[in-house]
Amino acid sequence: MILSTYHTIQSAFCCCCCCCSVQKRAVGTKLSLDNDGDLMMEAGYSMSQQLSYVSTQKHRHDRQFVQQSKRKPPPALPPQIPRECEEKIRVIALYDFFAKGPCDLTLRKSEEYIILDKYDPHWWKARDQYGNEGLIPSNYVTENERNTLEAYEWYCKNITRNQAELLLRQESKEGAFMVRDSSQKGALTMSVYSQYSGSHSGNIRHYQIKQNHSEQYYVAEKHLFPSIPELIQYHQHNAAGLITRLRHPIGSMGSCLPATAGFSYEKWKINPSELTFMKEVGRGQFGIVHLGKWRALVKVAIKAINEGAMSEDDFIEEAKVMMKLSHPKLVQLYGVCIQNKPLYIVTEFMENGCLLNYLRQRQGKLNKEMLLSMCQDVCEGMEYLERNRFIHRDLAARNCLVNAKNIVKISDFGMTRYVLDDEYISSSGAKFPVKWSSPEVFHFNKYSSKSDVWSFGVLMWEVFTEGKMPFENKSNSEVVHEISEGYRLYQPYLASLTVYKVMYSCWHEKPAGRPAFAELLQTLTDIAET
Ligand code: ADP
Repeated sequence: MILSTYHTIQSAFCCCCCCCSVQKRAVGTKLSLDNDGDLMMEAGYSMSQQLSYVSTQKHRHDRQFVQQSKRKPPPALPPQIPRECEEKIRVIALYDFFAKGPCDLTLRKSEEYIILDKYDPHWWKARDQYGNEGLIPSNYVTENERNTLEAYEWYCKNITRNQAELLLRQESKEGAFMVRDSSQKGALTMSVYSQYSGSHSGNIRHYQIKQNHSEQYYVAEKHLFPSIPELIQYHQHNAAGLITRLRHPIGSMGSCLPATAGFSYEKWKINPSELTFMKEVGRGQFGIVHLGKWRALVKVAIKAINEGAMSEDDFIEEAKVMMKLSHPKLVQLYGVCIQNKPLYIVTEFMENGCLLNYLRQRQGKLNKEMLLSMCQDVCEGMEYLERNRFIHRDLAARNCLVNAKNIVKISDFGMTRYVLDDEYISSSGAKFPVKWSSPEVFHFNKYSSKSDVWSFGVLMWEVFTEGKMPFENKSNSEVVHEISEGYRLYQPYLASLTVYKVMYSCWHEKPAGRPAFAELLQTLTDIAET
């Protein structure tokens, strides 16, 4: 499935979008994401087919009604079971979400909701316990199955040992802890930080949560519990063998809320009067970037597009697709303002700015684990793009951003297609990113996820050199010559041989010889765990 086909779809949901159960669609295909967030093409239906079905049913019903009205009245119909009750998907809110429009439903952390319809992979129709209904962001809830740990703030699902240590050190609070999936499949590990034992930077211990033959959980054999939450609760009051008692639960998002795919369902057009500009935070190829607020509520980055810098109509079409790309390691596109000039692109705000400057400003202060964790963040985001067959085309440290929690996210994906500057687009142009490009890109303009993999190898090199310029001051044509001769970037001082082998594997001359992002992610996770 190719994403760019999506913009041909005339999506015509009802205006209130949450209250109408019949989707009025004019064309026969639609894209959706599967449970893993994969975009999929669904078999379609036409509006005329739907209408003719409805009208046939109506005629049949009218005829029956006339016949029945001549006879004695029929027995009362059994009460209709609403569809949602058959399925009854119950979820728990992981975060608070404040309704931003009349179609939304406010979520309160830890409360239960019933899912009525999964309209879209990112926006579900839900009902709260008071009967209010509306749309909620699907990444703010988790299914309320028995034994689910996801609703607990101390549970961090996809976090490696390395990332756990970074998060705990970042908080540096006595008794900071989390429970995470262990590298051993199916097992759980409790990671605990103590300020007072060990070195001046504190001590972290990782305890495997075990089960005895009667399926009771424990970390210290003397203290057994029927469930993990009960085990945690006990150790919140008693160290009982741990380096310290559990005091501060640390979640993977910390106090940050995850970005939602747009502010509301299918709301890609943003009203400029709802934006406030606070300060300039940067300038790029397209124009000036400001920190701002949407409806005085949500912090956003607002990029004002310079006249003539972008092929705007094409971008606007594509923006509708890009908004559906939603992943914790991608800078979320919230929407665009197209009413006036200049065009504004509104995205998630990233407090620590671009990765390249972040690395350069912290030279000597970032340890190898932190550097590896940054590469893992980017690899996670790229694996999502690869799975959704979306090509970045300009992956580099300058196009990644860092948030307040030092999490790296990928930005500007696919944006080079809308640049109106020959120096940037043409491979012989002075601004063309030759140093990040694979041979098939600088020779034939042939982009693929595997050409992104090449760029990812260069990005890893940038990270492990703390922001050096690849190939230093060599010209683009010198780089093309050297790469074609088989020359590759050297092993950075901070990269172990294992890490260097990973970046080197990305620079295979042939795309097929390079690993996929899915494989790279596994390799980086294994390295981080050892
Ligand atoms: P362009 O795409 O026009 O080249 P960039 O995306 O590179 O522009 O943005 C220019 C600079 O603005 C970045 O280097 C960064 O410092 C800042 N910036 C861009 N987007 C954001 C954001 N979402 N949050 C915070 N700062 C940002």
